[in-house]
Amino acid sequence: MNFFERMAREAGVALNEQQRRAASHIDGPLLLLASPGSGKTTTMLLRIAYLMEVKKVPAARIKAVTFSKASAEDMKARFSKLLPALAAGAPDFSTIHSLAFEIVREHFRRRGISYRIIEGRSGEEDDGRPNKSKILRELYRRANGDYPPDDRMEELTRYIGFVKNKLIPPERLPSVKCDVPKAETIYREYEHYKRTAEDGLLIDFDDMLTEADAALSAEPALLAKYQSRFDYAMTDESQDTSLVQHEIVEKLVRKHGNLWVVADDDQSIYNWRAAEPEYLLGFKEKHPQAVVMLLEQNYRSTSTIVDVANRFIKRNRERYDKNMFTGNPSGDPIAITVLPDYRYQAKYAIEKIVDEGEPGDAAILYRNNSSSILLMNALERAGIPFYMKDGDARFFSHWVVEDVLNFMRLTYNDRRADILEKIHLKFGGYISRKQMEQLLELKEDPDDSVFDRLVKHIPLRDYQGKALAACQQAFRGMQGAPPLAAIRIIRGRLGYDKAIDKSCERMGYRKETLLGILSALEEIAEPLETMEQFAARLKFLEGRMRQSRGAKQDGAVTLSTLHSAKGLEFSRVYIVDLIEGVLPSADDVRKWEKGDAGDMEEAARLFYVGMTRAKRRLELLSYASKEGEPVRLSRFVDDVRRLQPAAPRLAVEEGAKAPPVVRANPNAIRDPARLVVGAKVRHAVFGDGEIILTLGDSMDVRFREETKRLSANICVQMGLLEPMASPE
Ligand code: ATP
Ligand code: MG
Repeated sequence: MNFFERMAREAGVALNEQQRRAASHIDGPLLLLASPGSGKTTTMLLRIAYLMEVKKVPAARIKAVTFSKASAEDMKARFSKLLPALAAGAPDFSTIHSLAFEIVREHFRRRGISYRIIEGRSGEEDDGRPNKSKILRELYRRANGDYPPDDRMEELTRYIGFVKNKLIPPERLPSVKCDVPKAETIYREYEHYKRTAEDGLLIDFDDMLTEADAALSAEPALLAKYQSRFDYAMTDESQDTSLVQHEIVEKLVRKHGNLWVVADDDQSIYNWRAAEPEYLLGFKEKHPQAVVMLLEQNYRSTSTIVDVANRFIKRNRERYDKNMFTGNPSGDPIAITVLPDYRYQAKYAIEKIVDEGEPGDAAILYRNNSSSILLMNALERAGIPFYMKDGDARFFSHWVVEDVLNFMRLTYNDRRADILEKIHLKFGGYISRKQMEQLLELKEDPDDSVFDRLVKHIPLRDYQGKALAACQQAFRGMQGAPPLAAIRIIRGRLGYDKAIDKSCERMGYRKETLLGILSALEEIAEPLETMEQFAARLKFLEGRMRQSRGAKQDGAVTLSTLHSAKGLEFSRVYIVDLIEGVLPSADDVRKWEKGDAGDMEEAARLFYVGMTRAKRRLELLSYASKEGEPVRLSRFVDDVRRLQPAAPRLAVEEGAKAPPVVRANPNAIRDPARLVVGAKVRHAVFGDGEIILTLGDSMDVRFREETKRLSANICVQMGLLEPMASPE
């Protein structure tokens, strides 16, 4: 029996002819250019097995490089699952960064250069020493007079990474566009700062790549050492590899030329971070003896999904023309659901996931990390476990969240001038900086509210007395109010929304983002009774988010950005927030209208990556309005609708009140009065259990595995519970 037949039996994957040829290609360069789900990663894993088993190549002589930690882990997991017998002696799957770091570390050691890393976990420790973001914030302030808002800071960091990854020499800097004022100056100063710091050379993650590349050029002995470390190098997802990363890999394989590259230009989604898909076009020139192979048969998805995705991606002009096809049977049409309003989306998606069973096989994908907050909140309230690949807890420390909490704090104790100081410019009391300073200098009077003290001791303008009295009233009105009512008062009567408008104009914040944060806070606040519960809920969710980044539990729904879902597959996929302004983003559209289609095409690829993650079912979610404004369905969803004319569309009337109920479980308990201590219930996810405690909306249900605290309301609304079948 040959290797591939044995693998078909043992690993359960019978490679097709093309895949076998690619997997058994041993010497010289190969480029495998293939469609999603065509078995690129599978073929790469089997090639490793082929090298080890048939060619008796020691694992240590094989280098499989990935471009993120997550995909290195995914690859490792897939290898052990596919080839358990080889798992123990598998080669290590590592990121290009860790390889680069190894090279730089050795280079610095040889040259006696002392250095410090200023990014990532070790760089972020608050040990008083500067780290990347502190340095950049400070340099930005020096150049522009004020600290940068978060999105500027992100843009600046992206720009710096872009310049480094594209190996752009200083004289060509002016040709790189960046919306951040004085970006070029800041970049130059940043480079200077890192090279002249007191405690040795400072390096960030991008520097690891450029330094490694430079070290390999500068030190022939180092180059020779690393060149002789591996006989076979391979890279997956190479469409997203940057120039400097290609340079490093190319240098390492220059002697033997055993470079095996897997890519799909249609899934290139990191152009903004300097991916270099053009490298694939030049592969044959660089390696004239290279074998280039195409794989177009998709083994992952139903023919319904494959067919629409294949025709969808042809809207892009800049691509290798490929034709994805499949031998898989057809399946459910791609569902397109347009909800009346954004606020129904999270509940709807989760209701649907539960209704369809096996949440562990489902994934909810989104473009922006901020979409995950409400999904997580709703999942958590429904007691459904979730796994978040790339959770971003920055939401919880955003200044808007801080502001709202400070407003709430002031209602508990309106004598605290220190809290007032944090928000005095953000509501309609017109308190100037100077007045605030004067107030802070007054001796604290334990009985007087800050408002009384202002009126009594500080010279005010004519109109201010009335305004301050109104604010004091509003703060009083918030005392003891449920958090949702409090947030409404903050935004309305206290004038926080107006303050937000102004800071958008002045500081260039994106209003959409800030209003989105406020509405997420309202959604979180909605079922809660007190502001303490609200503050505690935020802390709790933040903790849950950090926690959920670990390993995936069985039965947990996956939440992920579209970017991080690359390479993965799920039985059912829901893509949310599919409106114009998100996917494509307002920026993508603006550039496209000016004739620059690059970003629009990248957005289409991102959507394509999302669609092609689904094996069996794909649902596209959108809505007609958000924050009281009408929004438009994403043009990509329109494309899908055109390509699949028979698509059943759950069109929901605009202005409809309740979220649509999805194929409700007829046995579900819909009457909260039936949820009493002692009731035996069956949960859609956790199975049979007994209610052992009820407390307001919360109830503790003991399931076989563990006891869960669930919200009675949510369980009823979503039909999560049914009476347990009697034993006979
Ligand atoms: P992506 O572009 O999304 O990274 P890919 O090209 O790497 O996809 P894989 O993830 O390797 O594709 O494979 C997709 C699915 O198809 C997997 O479930 C895999 O097991 C299956 N598969 C691959 N090749 C075959 C085959 N020859 N026969 C049956 N199933 C296959
Ligand atoms: Mg893959």
